Amino acid sequence: MHLLESIGEQGHEEIVYFSDRGSGLKCIVAIHSTVLGPAIGGLRMWPYAHEEEALREILKSSRAMTYRTALAGLNLGGGKAVLIGNPEQDKSEALLRAVGRSIGSLGNRFIAMEDVGTTVADMDCIRQETDRVLGVHPVHGGSGDPSPFTALGTLHGIRACLERRFGHSEIGKASYAVQGVGGVGYHLVQLLRTAGAKVFVADINQERVEQVVDETRTEAVPMHQIYDVDATVFAPCAMGGVINEETVPRFKCQIVAGGANNQLESNECATELERRGILYAPDYAINAGSLMNLAVELEGYSDERARHRVATIGGIMRRIFERAARDSIPSWQAADRLAEERIQSIGRIRRL
Ligand code: NAD
Repeated sequence: MHLLESIGEQGHEEIVYFSDRGSGLKCIVAIHSTVLGPAIGGLRMWPYAHEEEALREILKSSRAMTYRTALAGLNLGGGKAVLIGNPEQDKSEALLRAVGRSIGSLGNRFIAMEDVGTTVADMDCIRQETDRVLGVHPVHGGSGDPSPFTALGTLHGIRACLERRFGHSEIGKASYAVQGVGGVGYHLVQLLRTAGAKVFVADINQERVEQVVDETRTEAVPMHQIYDVDATVFAPCAMGGVINEETVPRFKCQIVAGGANNQLESNECATELERRGILYAPDYAINAGSLMNLAVELEGYSDERARHRVATIGGIMRRIFERAARDSIPSWQAADRLAEERIQSIGRIRRL
């Protein structure tokens, strides 16, 4: 499909290209929806070979963010920004402040946050030009490391999955295979172990596995065997695409619920999981803890309010499963429907 047609097709409100020769600025901001509030989106810095490639990427992820914020119950819309350049070589104060001025010029329509190729220090630099940026250093009112909140939200989501599948929400009564013990995986393992659960872990980084096994007294599994572990819950916390044609037939678990982004190779893989009797927790619903935590910065950050907000993930998961059962649809589709309905109904209220 032609690129301009594709913009119309996906319902984007606005795409803006900012450039400035002096600072080397080449930045595209995509605002998919501001129906629920200002569009929030990661600012990715990447040396895209063609601007078209950058544009395609942000069209897709800004739309996904609209669904994510809507389902998370936030008064925010979906957007995304890319800064074209090499994050190792091309960053400068002038460039980042030029990004800040560009974002500032959009008024309250777009709020940027850290993404691949950008850091907390970059957000601090951008903040000199605009306050429409989140994920700044805690001394400036920032929310700090997001991964403990993603893990906490995932734990709440897992409880809702257990309740749906077994009629109880006791974490310690089930066993878990956690793939990836970086920021999110490590904090999730800690929470699961605190609840007394049996946990298996795998990571591409052996040193990391040894550290985590030592500290949390879990059992290590060879990286490629984590899909075959006979545990109640498989929790993907590493990379995307791990629910695919090759892995689905291997799963012995009864629930797939983890913090990783873009877990599904395709929606059909999730449908097939459920056909095999495995409950799937839609990734963008269960891993929304970091986004919820970040959004608290807008009202003045408080750890207590962030935890309170993240706990709502349990209720969101329950609503997804109820809708899936009511309409006889897979959970990924129920999540999308709930997001669309919230955008529609709150959008209507806002026009009153
Ligand atoms: P991270 O880089 O801290 O940890 C990822 C871990 O996965 C690393 O330890 C890495 O060695 C391991 N890994 C990589 N490839 C692997 C493989 N093939 N098999 C097993 N382990 C492998 O990243 P993170 O912040 O913990 O994020 C993990 C996932 O959660 C990502 O998909 C991320 O997009 C998603 N996510 C993270 C957050 C957050 O708050 N950090 C929020 C939402 C979603």
